[in-house]
Amino acid sequence: MSLGRWLRNRPRGLEILYRRTHRLFIRFDPLIARLGYERIDRWLRPGEELGKKIVFDCRMCGQCILHSTGMTCPMTCPKNLRNGPCGGVRANGHCEVKPDMKCIWVEAFERSRKMTLYGDEMLHIQIPVNRQLEGSSAWINMLTGVDTQPPPGWVNLPDIPVLHKS
Ligand code: SF4
Repeated sequence: MSLGRWLRNRPRGLEILYRRTHRLFIRFDPLIARLGYERIDRWLRPGEELGKKIVFDCRMCGQCILHSTGMTCPMTCPKNLRNGPCGGVRANGHCEVKPDMKCIWVEAFERSRKMTLYGDEMLHIQIPVNRQLEGSSAWINMLTGVDTQPPPGWVNLPDIPVLHKS
């Protein structure tokens, strides 16, 4: 078993680490803003990419939602799905595209059940991934808020009209 998988199977520790790191970034946001988000992005990116690659097999989408997906990277799904599995999960819980691989959404759900802080965020609906953010630091995108903005042309979640049956 790889080190990354071993760590991912301990999501409780990872979510605590995430919360502490998140608080740290929020605390230092004024300083980061003063130094310039773009500059700090450049400094941060290599370390973020390396660390998250080892632990989560990160693809640097720039819109990290790991804590809402059982500390399991949704971009490792062959279809890059960010709102749960497709209809093709096999009876043994494996992927329809890669039969040897367990569906990452099965793993995400199992891990989320071990998470007391963010586990229920599995039920949150995620906005479509904005490919323009690919390769940038998700931490900086979190601070600037660009990671919660839908890509241009997409309707924001609260603006989706709800259909009522008469
Ligand atoms: S959600 Fe995006 S930033 Fe987070 S681990 Fe996956 S590819 Fe990397």
